[in-house]
Amino acid sequence: SKRSGKGQLSFYDESMNDLSRRKLFLEQELRRALQNHELQVHYQPILEAGTNRVKSFEALVRWYHKSEGWIGPDEFIPVAETTGLIHQVGSFVLNECFATLASWKDGGAEAIRMSINISVKQLQGNALPHLIKDRLAYYRLLPQEIELEVTESVIMENFEKVCFTLDLLRDLGVYLSIDDFGTGYSSMSTLNRLPFHTIKIDRSFIADVFYDKKSRAILRSMIQLSNEMNLTTIAEGVESEEQYRILKEEGVHEVQGYYFTKPVPANEIEAVWLTGNLS
Ligand code: C2E
Ligand code: CA
Ligand code: CA
Ligand code: CA
Repeated sequence: SKRSGKGQLSFYDESMNDLSRRKLFLEQELRRALQNHELQVHYQPILEAGTNRVKSFEALVRWYHKSEGWIGPDEFIPVAETTGLIHQVGSFVLNECFATLASWKDGGAEAIRMSINISVKQLQGNALPHLIKDRLAYYRLLPQEIELEVTESVIMENFEKVCFTLDLLRDLGVYLSIDDFGTGYSSMSTLNRLPFHTIKIDRSFIADVFYDKKSRAILRSMIQLSNEMNLTTIAEGVESEEQYRILKEEGVHEVQGYYFTKPVPANEIEAVWLTGNLS
């Protein structure tokens, strides 16, 4: 309030300005980065629990800025979403992933899929289904080689708007997965209405599964529910051998996390991770 004095008011004003200045800076720089091809995609393997066989790769966008260094997607994706640049970022990522998967298949890699993060802004209207259909044909990929990850909370907040697009995507034959599952309070009946194939259990549920019996009970019930609904379960954020052991005991299907590897550039995937999937 005004009573808190002039100094304090101007303090808040300045900090607001810093925030909007940063956003404006990011917007301008992102626009430039898109034109100058400064974005990259890194890939993190998703492995079959138990066999460690590579099932999929999650594509994670990366931005190396010449003076700022790495800028994380957690910071620039929200800016891309509010400025509409998400469509350009999204189609860059899509093209990059499809081209990469096609080249891995050309090199003889078999039975792998690519998991791509999709923003809710891309799920309004039918532009994304059209783009994906077009890109599948262009790169000669099968729809079941593509999995789209959508964050649970975001689906729930935009339920009516996104249902239609999700159904179109499912009709194309691509897989859909619910990202950060357990953080978005979806009910069973809502889940049942949505055309999902996979559930990615949020890493907050994996973090203390080794120390905390309640966490383990929650994990167990999530896996049980998913199994009853014929959904594939992926545990993300696996960081230790103990976590991995428990996840295997609880029957999770696939695992992903720093315990196996951080997201890495495509050439490192080729050198280290694709060898077991070559025909
Ligand atoms: P997400 O989809 O939940 O991705 C998982 C995040 O956890 C990634 O962070 C990944 O690097 C990180 N991670 C992987 N394994 C571990 C682990 O064992 N421990 C911990 N602590 N973290 C781990 P990243 O790459 O910074 O991405 C952050 C978020 O940005 C993603 O969360 C996703 O929501 C968004 N994002 C990333 N790439 C894209 C994209 O191409 N498009 C869109 N729309 N969003 C993206
Ligand atoms: Ca994801
Ligand atoms: Ca996630
Ligand atoms: Ca996330």
